[in-house]
Amino acid sequence: MDRVVCVQCPVGCKIRFELVDGKIAKVEGNRCPRGLSYLEDELREPKRVVPTSVKVVGGKYELVSVKTSAPIPKKYIPQLMKKLKEIKINAPVRVGDVILNNVFDTGVDVVATRTVLKDSNCNAPK
Ligand code: SF4
Repeated sequence: MDRVVCVQCPVGCKIRFELVDGKIAKVEGNRCPRGLSYLEDELREPKRVVPTSVKVVGGKYELVSVKTSAPIPKKYIPQLMKKLKEIKINAPVRVGDVILNNVFDTGVDVVATRTVLKDSNCNAPK
């Protein structure tokens, strides 16, 4: 049987499954129905929440941590990482600020997960 680990909750069930003609024929190991939905999504189009950081200009820190507000298809992750590497945000940045809106038309935003205040000693352009 093939395996996948469900990441929908901290239990992390190890789901074993068999496919026949591309369809799920047998499933074991999921403790709740969400595991089956997760498996179906993984087989159809795997998605992940993307945590990373972006550059901050004029802040107390040079980076601010960010993440996608919901999982996005894995196929978009390399493009998203490239795009986020090019972005520079002017301080201050606050938790929940939208850094990138509607990533690749998925309806998912990239949001700040911490606050970076302005550095009063910084001479960066405002
Ligand atoms: S199958 Fe249910 S209990 Fe198991 S990890 Fe997924 S969500 Fe959690």
